[in-house]
Amino acid sequence: MSSVTVRVPAKVNVQLSVGPLRDDGYHDLVNVFHAVSVFDEVVAKESDHITVSVVGEWADQVPVDDGNLAIQAARALAKHAGRTYGAHLVIHKSIPVAGGMAGGSADAAGALVACNELWGLGLPFEDLMEIAGDLGSDVPFSLLGGTAVGTGRGEQLSELPTTGSFHWAFAVAQGGLSTAEVYAQCDRQRESAGVEVPWPQVDDALLEALSTGDAATLGARLTNDLQAAALTLRPELVRTLDAGRAEGALGAIVSGSGPTCAFLAADADHAQRLADALSQLPTCRAALAAHGPVPGPRPSWSSPRP
Ligand code: ATP
Repeated sequence: MSSVTVRVPAKVNVQLSVGPLRDDGYHDLVNVFHAVSVFDEVVAKESDHITVSVVGEWADQVPVDDGNLAIQAARALAKHAGRTYGAHLVIHKSIPVAGGMAGGSADAAGALVACNELWGLGLPFEDLMEIAGDLGSDVPFSLLGGTAVGTGRGEQLSELPTTGSFHWAFAVAQGGLSTAEVYAQCDRQRESAGVEVPWPQVDDALLEALSTGDAATLGARLTNDLQAAALTLRPELVRTLDAGRAEGALGAIVSGSGPTCAFLAADADHAQRLADALSQLPTCRAALAAHGPVPGPRPSWSSPRP
């Protein structure tokens, strides 16, 4: 039986600036996304119904019912196409779950690309981006890959130019953090501090560093407005960040809503040394070395297209 395989990257936010809470419960963001070489694989096989199974290290933490974002994506695609389609999706999970690396969004993006191909829909990228935006704020970037700045809720994306590769180490924490809880904690901390929250602005120096491949400047400019909230909820992450800095990381940051921590390295060897050192920490479940930017998902058939 033929099947379509898609590899989808995780992301790290190199700038995450969070504006004031809006009336609709969301925040306006400036979100500079960067796709890194930690991949989930989504395989779509012909089937009568839309179902999912998950394999890999993090599989036990992922729902296989309607709560799975890949199922929601396949359903949304079938609805958009105006027909009933089926597919069995197998997710090979390597992206940490609830780790602030957009693993669920990656699987949703993978399901859109894989099912568009499996079902022969031939929908253009713009249509997939529209469906992705309805599925979640991070799904459009997971479809795009590379490096991009998101505004609005993060879903209005513009691609950013970069030079060369940046090298990263990621410290995966024990357990996850709920994105909604981290935002709620951020709002509480801001309210009790009583300061006016500024409108989020793109950091031009950070964009320049991405564009010229200047890792030292990028490391110094990494920002995450959710970091204080994530550290309040998980104080042990302070130790993880300090350990990476002590190993010479050019920058150390909580990735998105955490609890994964991201460390910018000088080169690939340094990233591996950082990952080796971080993996020894009691606060760390695993550590990975990776590089970015990497492209978004592309489909490939496992046997000739029928
Ligand atoms: P983000 O960085 O976009 O805020 P995250 O990386 O912190 O997200 P995810 O790994 O996407 O978090 O998982 C968040 C929750 O979504 C999980 O706790 C899980 O219950 C649910 N979920 C639904 N579908 C998936 C999926 N395919 N993979 C992982 N989690 C999923």
